[in-house]
Amino acid sequence: MKRCVSLLLVLALVFGIVPWALAADEAEITYTGTITGGSLHLRKEPNASAKVLNTYKKGTKVEILENDGAWCKVKAGGKTGYMMAQYLDIEANYPHLGWAKTTDDGTVLNVRAQADGSSEIIFMCMSGAVFELVEEKGDWYRVRAGAKFGYLPKAKCHVMEEGEFALGLSAGGDGAPITAAGMYSAVREMGNPRKTSRDEGDFTYSISYPALGIAAADEKIEAWIQEKLTVFEADFRQNHAGGKASFTVEYQALNVDSRYQSVLLFGEYKAGGLKAETALALNIDAGEGKLLSPERDFFRDEAQWALFCLDSAAGSVMSTPTDGYAGKPDTSWLKYAVLARDGLQVFLPAGLYLPAAFGTQRLLLSYAQLADRMTLSSPVIAAHLRVIDPAKPMIALTFDDGPSEYTDRILKVLAEYNARATFCVIGNKVETYGDVIKRAVAQGNEIACHTWNHTKLTTLSAASIRSQIERTNNAVRELTGGYEIKVLRPPYGSVNKNVRTVCAELDMVIAHWKIDTEDWSTRNSTKTYNAIMKGSKNGVIILCHDLYMTTAAAAEKAIPKLIEKGFQLVTVSELLSFHKDGAQPGTVYSYLDPENIVTAGE
Ligand code: ZN
Repeated sequence: MKRCVSLLLVLALVFGIVPWALAADEAEITYTGTITGGSLHLRKEPNASAKVLNTYKKGTKVEILENDGAWCKVKAGGKTGYMMAQYLDIEANYPHLGWAKTTDDGTVLNVRAQADGSSEIIFMCMSGAVFELVEEKGDWYRVRAGAKFGYLPKAKCHVMEEGEFALGLSAGGDGAPITAAGMYSAVREMGNPRKTSRDEGDFTYSISYPALGIAAADEKIEAWIQEKLTVFEADFRQNHAGGKASFTVEYQALNVDSRYQSVLLFGEYKAGGLKAETALALNIDAGEGKLLSPERDFFRDEAQWALFCLDSAAGSVMSTPTDGYAGKPDTSWLKYAVLARDGLQVFLPAGLYLPAAFGTQRLLLSYAQLADRMTLSSPVIAAHLRVIDPAKPMIALTFDDGPSEYTDRILKVLAEYNARATFCVIGNKVETYGDVIKRAVAQGNEIACHTWNHTKLTTLSAASIRSQIERTNNAVRELTGGYEIKVLRPPYGSVNKNVRTVCAELDMVIAHWKIDTEDWSTRNSTKTYNAIMKGSKNGVIILCHDLYMTTAAAAEKAIPKLIEKGFQLVTVSELLSFHKDGAQPGTVYSYLDPENIVTAGE
């Protein structure tokens, strides 16, 4: 199995570790390089003026024998020589057994060079980290830790099941490199700055923290500092005695608004040329003088929505779409979340909840996504609450015939822009795409019925029409724990008296469309995008199909553009809720005439 580790190599350089310096008796880890420049010389020596043995074109794959960071010793076309590492995209080839989440007991985890507790420590991080499993060896697992491969005791590893949650990482997902690492900025808006330090001796520390004057918070900060000092000094005495170690803590202390405050302490422990990061996040209700628990106090829905948002945020730093939300919900990462002015910031020390390869991460869960689901009453958060202004133009995007493998792409861009759409689902796809539907609902989108198996309803008896609709509605209700479908989108738009009567009985409206993008026919993202933009007028319902990659691509482009043009993207039910006569069950709507919109002033 090939895994791209070019960024891991950068990390390796940063930490001064060369992954090739590992013992060779285990399953071999090999490296392949692909030439990224126009062409690349193979030289006799690792030196830019050395003799050129041959020249290879971009895209050529070479076998990498050694890598010192600047030069790679490579085998290319039967010749052995040196190429400049910066022009090679390097992949590691190694077995992949799965992923492990390590026991989180607050201690330091040491990844060893050998399956032996006294061998050299090659990687260090806090317990609770995620590792990729490469090989089994007695009581040890060989793991990948960033750019390095080493050993962890099996007793420390919990092997994750398929789909098990680890902050967006599905078991079997890939650990490809990140695009950007986020760091915190040391903003100090409150508290009296304090510092405790010891500069002499082999274990030194320098800890900055705020004294807030709120007993619960101050006690927690002091206890955390004491605990970390104890853990790190013990680790140092046990594993790095004779050398030097340091522990530094910096902090951010934010006044979010007049009531809520947050503090983040970010600590770095260094020993033996390695480092481990740790963090403490505190959220304070200054009005009540107490600490808040994000898991308990921030959200409705047991933080499920935050989990979904985190999952999409993690998706932005990981190369594969994530399915953590669909797996076992784990919200323990919320202990690293602090309130900020633009959203909930999640600070993840390297290796915690994301594989070590991803480095330190700061993920922002914007209030635009979260506000509807948050229970805190804060003007900062309230400013992001979803309010539809009937005096401003609105559009209802609808997606028929799904869900499909492309629906998630549309959901993601909708979430990003705090926009909503209506997904007209086919009943017999509900089971297969249950997670997608749950996500769509959690995000505030509307689910409409597009019949059980895409039947032209006008060819059926009233009883069969009813069955087509109810079977679909029941499946969605069961899946989501009670979501009630209020809209029918009849296949082919076919409606007769029976369809209208059944819908009236089921308290459902019938949604046609004003604009048909004909995406099903053109299958061209530019044409679909143009059709959406050309048809965008106040009150219209636009028909698309989330069955095609081209439609997902068009939506990714159109949604930000529509928002930029001032449109509110609403669901069909949201749109019709502004009708002056209300939405009438059994009635067909294809748009909402601005003449009929009840605005706030009326
Ligand atoms: Zn259809």
